[in-house]
Amino acid sequence: MDEPLVAKLLFSSLALDPQILRAIEETGYTEPTPIQAQAIPHVIAGRDLMAMAQTGTGKTAAFTLPMLQRLLPHASTSASPARHPIRALVLAPTRELAIQVHESVVTYSKHVPLRTTVVYGGTDIKAQKPALMNGVEILVATPGRLLDHVESRNLQLNQVQILILDEADRMLDMGFMPDLKRILALLPKQRQTLLFSATFSDDIKKLAQDFLVDPVTVETARRNAAGENIKQSVCMVEHQDKYHALVELIRSRGVKQVLIFTRTKLSAAHVAKQLERSGIPADAIHGDKTQQERIKALDAFKSGAVMALVATDVAARGLDIDQLPLVINYELPTHAEDYVHRIGRTGRAGASGEAVSLVDGAEERRLVEIEKLLNRTFPREAVAVPTGYQKPVKAAPMRSHHKSAPAEDWFSKPYEPSASPKSVEEQPDAPVSTLGKPQPQVAALFRIRN
Ligand code: AMP
Repeated sequence: MDEPLVAKLLFSSLALDPQILRAIEETGYTEPTPIQAQAIPHVIAGRDLMAMAQTGTGKTAAFTLPMLQRLLPHASTSASPARHPIRALVLAPTRELAIQVHESVVTYSKHVPLRTTVVYGGTDIKAQKPALMNGVEILVATPGRLLDHVESRNLQLNQVQILILDEADRMLDMGFMPDLKRILALLPKQRQTLLFSATFSDDIKKLAQDFLVDPVTVETARRNAAGENIKQSVCMVEHQDKYHALVELIRSRGVKQVLIFTRTKLSAAHVAKQLERSGIPADAIHGDKTQQERIKALDAFKSGAVMALVATDVAARGLDIDQLPLVINYELPTHAEDYVHRIGRTGRAGASGEAVSLVDGAEERRLVEIEKLLNRTFPREAVAVPTGYQKPVKAAPMRSHHKSAPAEDWFSKPYEPSASPKSVEEQPDAPVSTLGKPQPQVAALFRIRN
């Protein structure tokens, strides 16, 4: 986070019900984060809110806690579905984020009789129906699947009092605007709307103008500023030495968990496979994996069974891993803003973290874009290739099907199954051939060239 925690402010001073405070206490949080301290009183007071908060700032609790507080008068232990209409709707761009938000709602609401469920695409819609039919006060949803349920008449939105748009910027990036408009048209005009976004682009401002009423604006992170509690560095490395450098880097840091980013699905899969072969328990999450596979990989990573998780930008969106010490950019992202999202996986909620980027000559242009965005220059550290290290003579040819690999269909569908927005995961544009070749071990790989 960019700011220090608000001095000595306690959750108990935030007008939250004792049962909600009890749940917070059980999570071990001692004080509200800045976004929580700023947002919670306004939301409890019923105001619309436009909050600029990056992931990792505690934004989920910033909207969930006051949402629960406002819904408390409707809390009911009645078994009748009619007593449990949907009163709060949380929209999230990706399934993983939706699942995580729902988990937070479950955690914070465990001592109050409010029901919650989550719906997202890619899984059997019928399996989601019973929970909706039983009645829930809080529904977390991805926009496309929500509309599927609306069409199937599995739910009604005419009693929604609170609408929360989480990661609104990403929802727009992913082409969800038409779906959002359809959903908003189904909601009562009289409601409270909270919009959370990592950036306040003109499109986001327009969205707020159209759908929020006299919102309070809270900002807890500078635009596109990467967390200052994250130590960031850049290592220049030849393309064919990258895998080698990665292994050394992981070993030299001695961390138990590392999240590695690649630009393409193919290289995510390759890197994970190679790490496994190098004796580093690893798995990959990317657009070609099923949801079950992703959840399994994530759970294994969170539990520590898998040490290295290799992810593409789309698949990693919304990932929340407590105390993640290290993020490595194996390949820089195409869009500079994704760099901020990537490194924001570490250094969450005030903890410190490290982000290292392995950059080859072909990526320097991307690095410069990132530096422009962050308004800072990274010293280029050099990775020394050890003497005796044999560079591969030639790269293996790219397999032709790379170009025509199916587009990411997991997170990027605004409204399944009819629409098909732009794919965010790229196809490979650089050979990853050296990954398959076992390389000799190097002792001191990271030396700074002056
Ligand atoms: P979020 O920005 O909502 O993704 O939250 C990032 C992380 O911060 C999550 O792991 C939360 O559990 C954690 N968190 C949220 N609020 C607090 C708090 N007040 N104190 C410490 N950790 C928190």
